[in-house]
Amino acid sequence: MTGPSGAGKGTLIRALVERRADVEVAVSATTRPRRPGEIDGRDYIFLTEEEFDRRAADGEFLEHVVYVSGQRYGTLHAEVDRILRAGRSCILELETRGARAVEAIRPETVSIFIAAPSFDELERRLRARATESAGEIGERLALAWSQMTEAGDFDHVVTNDDVERATEELDRVVGAEIAAAGTMRP
Ligand code: 5GP
Repeated sequence: MTGPSGAGKGTLIRALVERRADVEVAVSATTRPRRPGEIDGRDYIFLTEEEFDRRAADGEFLEHVVYVSGQRYGTLHAEVDRILRAGRSCILELETRGARAVEAIRPETVSIFIAAPSFDELERRLRARATESAGEIGERLALAWSQMTEAGDFDHVVTNDDVERATEELDRVVGAEIAAAGTMRP
């Protein structure tokens, strides 16, 4: 799942996981500071720059990127493998560069772009979260604006105009993709 920061990827993914026992979200690693309420190992694996570098050098990441303010994010192979071995479909929550990288490395990937209903709404949501500094919100907004134009490059687009409705749509899309993947297995 990809899309701009503030479109509500996290909210929709949490709602989806509550409905479906056949999917699980891979916990990403990041160097960004923990927000109030976030738990290490549940929301992210919070790493120092040095730890992130070491794990990257050891080949532990499926993909990793530098995001705003030099903060780094990455998907750990170990997380993806753990979920797939348990027989579930693995959900990744990524910005668009990471999503493109995963699509290239794992062609069986299905990409879903979560769009905000409008730029004004995206800005309102990012500011309402108020967990980042004004400068960083500006940086996230500029990036979000450019990322919104990439929506058509992904397999599906779900607009988060209303959480309940968008969750329904996401659930239908994911269910159909899992059913289609199942029929392709030998
Ligand atoms: P946030 O700091 O708001 O939690 O995340 C910032 C952005 O990084 C979001 O768009 C989020 O989806 C993305 N992100 C989270 N984890 C990963 C990851 O493992 N890899 C990549 N490429 N992006 C990620």
